[in-house]
Amino acid sequence: MIDNYRHILKLSNRCYVNKLINKFTFADLIKYRKKNFQINIDSKMKFGTKAIHAGQEPDPSTGAIMTPIYQTSTYVQASPGDHKGYEYSRTQNPTRHALEKNLAALENAKHGLVFGSGLAATDAVMKTLQPGDEIISTNDLYGGTYRLFTKIFEGFGLKFHFVNMTDLENIKSRINEKTKLIWVETPTNPMMSIIDISGVADLINGKNIKLVVDNTFSSPYLQNPIDKGADIVMHSVTKYIAGHSDVVMGALMLNDDELKDKLAFIQNASGAIPGPQDAFLVLRGTKTLHIRMQRHSENGKEIAHYLKNHPKVDKVYWPGFEDHPGHEIAKKQMRDFGGMISFTMKDDSVEYATKILERFKLFRLAESLGGVESLSGHPASMTHASIPREERLKSGLKDSLIRLSVGIEDAEDLIADLEQALG
Ligand code: PLP
Repeated sequence: MIDNYRHILKLSNRCYVNKLINKFTFADLIKYRKKNFQINIDSKMKFGTKAIHAGQEPDPSTGAIMTPIYQTSTYVQASPGDHKGYEYSRTQNPTRHALEKNLAALENAKHGLVFGSGLAATDAVMKTLQPGDEIISTNDLYGGTYRLFTKIFEGFGLKFHFVNMTDLENIKSRINEKTKLIWVETPTNPMMSIIDISGVADLINGKNIKLVVDNTFSSPYLQNPIDKGADIVMHSVTKYIAGHSDVVMGALMLNDDELKDKLAFIQNASGAIPGPQDAFLVLRGTKTLHIRMQRHSENGKEIAHYLKNHPKVDKVYWPGFEDHPGHEIAKKQMRDFGGMISFTMKDDSVEYATKILERFKLFRLAESLGGVESLSGHPASMTHASIPREERLKSGLKDSLIRLSVGIEDAEDLIADLEQALG
């Protein structure tokens, strides 16, 4: 009897659910899918609006405002070749595509491509070159990029010249008929040198040379290299763009259709793509990029000034100072000066730097940068350990140099932490 009753209840529930589903007819679904929810992101829209909306529209089947995580490796085809534009997730994934469109909009570029890491993105750019091609890059390049160039691509016949790019003459004198690419990083890591992007673009105007700018330290909020004449912008998305120290990813943004096809081919053929879950996390990160960057810059300014007045500190490298050698160019090409600061101590020793780093409480000692939380690092023994000592000293990277990634905590607390750590 009881079993019978349960059976009747089950059936009637099923009928109720069916009724609900039937209310929303197939025709309604088609109508909903046809409705154009796309916001027309034009170049006049301001950064924050683009950060929140570009590349994203409500999910056509449910209306979900957040881009779904399409956690799938493959897509069903009705008949061979009859599909909805998606075949296999190494080649295409809707969550990744939404992110690529979003990042392109933030760099005022036509195309965006994302990779498994910043170095994977750099690797893809290098694979567009041929043995014998020459590349000019900066002499205080991020250590991992330097390692990729010298330890991997030199072995495949590419030739690199590392010069002090703050003087454009050093670049000009290296350009020859084999030069195919100029790789700029500005501000540089960790010396915060500023390279004049428009100046470099002018040098190669009309020549068959591509200009790539690693824009990781600025983020697209502070600087848009394509507007200054760069061909490709590269980002370690891991840093400010993702912003929460929970993702490793890289990106390339560019306008040139042919070059984009070449890079998309490499992205698929070499296969260094990020997963959809990470693409989702970065889409969430970019929604607050403008707000985070404003706070990073405000805190950066307070801390840079505090350090400059500290009796034990020797030099502070931050492009917002009027006496920073690149200040005027930074003012021209950046919207603000960000939260990356390096400083050296009057007692220039690894031992003293180590002591300070061990005493930090809020400035956690860790590789990486650009997250909401403040971090500290010792480039000579961490990020730049792969650069020979004599090479790094030439660019001012001393033994005591400490790099800070100033987070978005309250500046007073960060200053109190510096106060106790410097002793
Ligand atoms: N470029 C810069 C300026 C970096 O700081 C980093 C990493 O620290 C990279 C590139 C490499 O990016 P990823 O670690 O995402 O491969």
